[in-house]
Amino acid sequence: MTQTAHDHIEAPSESGVDPGEQPEQATFESLDPRTGEVVGNHPIHDAAHVTEAVRSARGAQRWWEGLGFSGRKQRLDAWRKLLTRRIDEAAGVICSETGKPLDDARLELVLVIDHLHWAANKADGVLRKRKVSPGVLMANQAATVEYLPFGVVGVIGPWNYPAFTPMGSIAYALAAGNTVVFKPSELTPAVGEWLAKTFAEVVPEQPVFEVVTGFGETGAALCRSGVDKLAFTGSTETGKRVMATCAETLTPVLVECGGKDALIVDADADLRAAAEAAVWGAMSNAGQTCIGVERVYVVEAVADRFLELVAERAAELRPGGEPGADLGPITMPSQVDVIRHHVDDAVRLGGRAVVGGSHSVRSPFVEPVVLTDVPADAEAAAEETFGPTIVVDRVADVDEGVERANSSRYGLGATVFSRSRGAELARRLRTGMVAVNSVISFAAVPALPFGGVGDSGFGRIHGADGLREFARPQSVTRTKFRIPLNPMTFSRSSRTVRQLVRLVQLVRGR
Ligand code: NDP
Repeated sequence: MTQTAHDHIEAPSESGVDPGEQPEQATFESLDPRTGEVVGNHPIHDAAHVTEAVRSARGAQRWWEGLGFSGRKQRLDAWRKLLTRRIDEAAGVICSETGKPLDDARLELVLVIDHLHWAANKADGVLRKRKVSPGVLMANQAATVEYLPFGVVGVIGPWNYPAFTPMGSIAYALAAGNTVVFKPSELTPAVGEWLAKTFAEVVPEQPVFEVVTGFGETGAALCRSGVDKLAFTGSTETGKRVMATCAETLTPVLVECGGKDALIVDADADLRAAAEAAVWGAMSNAGQTCIGVERVYVVEAVADRFLELVAERAAELRPGGEPGADLGPITMPSQVDVIRHHVDDAVRLGGRAVVGGSHSVRSPFVEPVVLTDVPADAEAAAEETFGPTIVVDRVADVDEGVERANSSRYGLGATVFSRSRGAELARRLRTGMVAVNSVISFAAVPALPFGGVGDSGFGRIHGADGLREFARPQSVTRTKFRIPLNPMTFSRSSRTVRQLVRLVQLVRGR
């Protein structure tokens, strides 16, 4: 029996297949969202298959860890070079499943390549064994900390950046010495398979990086499979389900969820640059970006001019399926209804569409929509829209902008445009990342940790924190010499403890 990913999302079934009709391997089709054309057929992997994939990844883990940092770097570098050579082939796979313009897919892969380079090159320096001071009280000990791999890491990814987003976990987990089992979104299984296939070309010896495909049930099976850590990226609601499933086996989780990112425009900002950033941040990838700009708080004094610039730029953008289109389609069909509802609801509650409106939502494409005067509790202003829409709101000053930005239950990224107060405002925002006088740029700096707070999740991918996220710190003390005053024995005298107390009063009591 073959289902399509889109059918499944619109009409979920309990098990994905009717057991009575189940052939040897149930499959599902992935579709090109621009045309509805079938672009691939993929297995619906059940729990037994997932468990087997994790078992074989566990078998490969010792070998992979045993290669050491330099052996793994060599192989990850080879994979990076392969991805670089075959960037257009990979971009083609991304386009066929997401519908995004070819250049957007290429840009996504450029970021993948840069992060892979960073993770492979920095893992040694970040994770290797290092000495730490044992302190005065334990001066007879040599103390070291080393970051060892967990074992097998399960990765569950979304469809919006089907290579960049999961690779933020996969590349860092592999560099840290883990093997990986990846469950891509049902909308983008071929991207996951392409990544695993090309990895196996450069690491043919062992099943270090495997892919399992299917629907949510396959993801849930991965949570229950005995992986040593689970890295999830997707919506907040699914993130909660993943956490609950992982709690059954106390499997640690990294949870990267959605956002409702704000952009604040100060009175002294470069308005043209701010407007360009707002439009790019909100509309690129047709707004299907977890760190996309969804809300703008602009200081009253410059609000009219800013809105004019945003409207001008947004009105020029054209969605379409052709290679030169500014925006592609909405990849997940059911999201079109969410976008339509947010726009309609905002207008019904008194909001004004400065560009576009309800008529802009024409599945599978959505034209840019710029809304203003939207009440703060309208869904368009408070919930993740995930479409090429933006809500622009006026504030008396940037302090109010910060307050409004922080009022969200989400806290992923944010943007500030200000000539004089950028760093100060950034620090006051309750988010994991902030871009000052640019947009989304933090995601492209591999050394910077990426992740959120609140309903945007917890844990970090990217950077040194991202490497450590996939390693367990192991602390070791080694006795260098015996000391006369040893309090950690039943043979100690009370004089030993008295002398120790005197010592601590001397060195720590002042
Ligand atoms: P979903 O939450 O719908 O799905 C994410 C992944 O979880 C998919 O692979 C999905 O499989 C799988 N899944 C679904 N149900 C379960 C379950 N019960 N147990 C385990 N896994 C399950 O998210 P989307 O794919 O729709 O992605 C869009 C969301 O991702 C947005 O909210 C966006 O903001 C967020 N995101 C966050 C990022 C971040 O770094 N913070 C980056 C990119 C996106 P299937 O597709 O087969 O249902």
